[in-house]
Amino acid sequence: HPVSSPDRAFSYLRGWPGIALCSTFANKAPLMSEKFPILVTGGAGYIGSHAVLALRDAGWPVVVIDNLVTGFRWAVPEGVGFVEADIGDADAVSAALTAHRIGAIMHFAGSVVVPESVENPLKYYRNNTANSRTLLEAAVTCGVRHFIFSSTAATYGIAETVPVREDSPKRPINPYGMSKLMTEFMLADVAAAHPINYCALRYFNVAGADPQQRTGQSTAGATHLIKVAVEAATGKRDHVTIFGTDFATPDGTGVRDYIHVSDLAAAHVHALEKLIADPASSHTMNCGYGKGFSVSEVLDAVDRATNLKIERRFEGRRAGDPDALIADNSKILATLPWRPQRDNLDQMVQDALAWERVLAERGK
Ligand code: UDP
Repeated sequence: HPVSSPDRAFSYLRGWPGIALCSTFANKAPLMSEKFPILVTGGAGYIGSHAVLALRDAGWPVVVIDNLVTGFRWAVPEGVGFVEADIGDADAVSAALTAHRIGAIMHFAGSVVVPESVENPLKYYRNNTANSRTLLEAAVTCGVRHFIFSSTAATYGIAETVPVREDSPKRPINPYGMSKLMTEFMLADVAAAHPINYCALRYFNVAGADPQQRTGQSTAGATHLIKVAVEAATGKRDHVTIFGTDFATPDGTGVRDYIHVSDLAAAHVHALEKLIADPASSHTMNCGYGKGFSVSEVLDAVDRATNLKIERRFEGRRAGDPDALIADNSKILATLPWRPQRDNLDQMVQDALAWERVLAERGK
């Protein structure tokens, strides 16, 4: 009975053999023939499209579901299934799970702009919380066994300690962080009640682009520092504003833990393999490098990459910006074989810059 026969491969979706099958492979990456299709929500967006590449590079069949509100159809590579639908559409999600015999979901789809969440909280509670509930219900109903969720360091609010550990108090200071934390709560309850396990990855500041420039951050109206700075470096903006110079940090500007998007994508593939190898356990883990750079240091790196000096202007702090936010990443390092490969600010900036030039060539 060949391992790749449909019966065995898809028995995974029908009940008991799935767990037995997975535990057989404890502590080993699944063989090619055991790789079932993964649904990537938001796979046409920034981080999701990098995860699609990482999954494909690791040999996983991938199907993307995306409503293309902020994502791009071109960001989904050839050979990857694509469903244009909103994850709040229960029928569309269930149809995709069934038709593609999905075994695991990576859930990136959502809204991510903090100030917008303050202006329009119900958009965030719909897109990030209510739609995640719909997706989770479909996942449970259709027998999906593993769920990986894009969470955020914004769940901590003003961190009591730097670096911040996963068990630190979660006191979000904006609806964005709260909408993600509510989904973490749902996941814990659902995993306790149903045969599904999950990994919630709390991202710190994600930056950079695929080093092969197959994808990158492409949505207009960016607010994140490195994206804004490389837009200035390529002439799309004429300056960068530094928000606050009176933080309790060595140079007075805000300090963040910037993680390369390709390292983050790789962490998702490791998380998937961990969930399969150990179906009785779920995990919540910080994704960062454990060190911080100030706004001034980031802008210095961009100046170094271009040999130019971007004009820096100064304004007061943005509402709700903490002085410093740095991950304690000891948990992910202890739990997964993941190791940072691109833990280098200059490289991260160069990759972001290279992608910005690709966009400029395309007239974007
Ligand atoms: N920042 C800045 N100018 C900008 C964008 C961001 O000075 O145009 C600062 C911001 O105050 C924070 C850091 O850069 O200290 C990272 O902000 P970003 O918006 O990239 O991510 P956040 O940490 O808010 O999620």
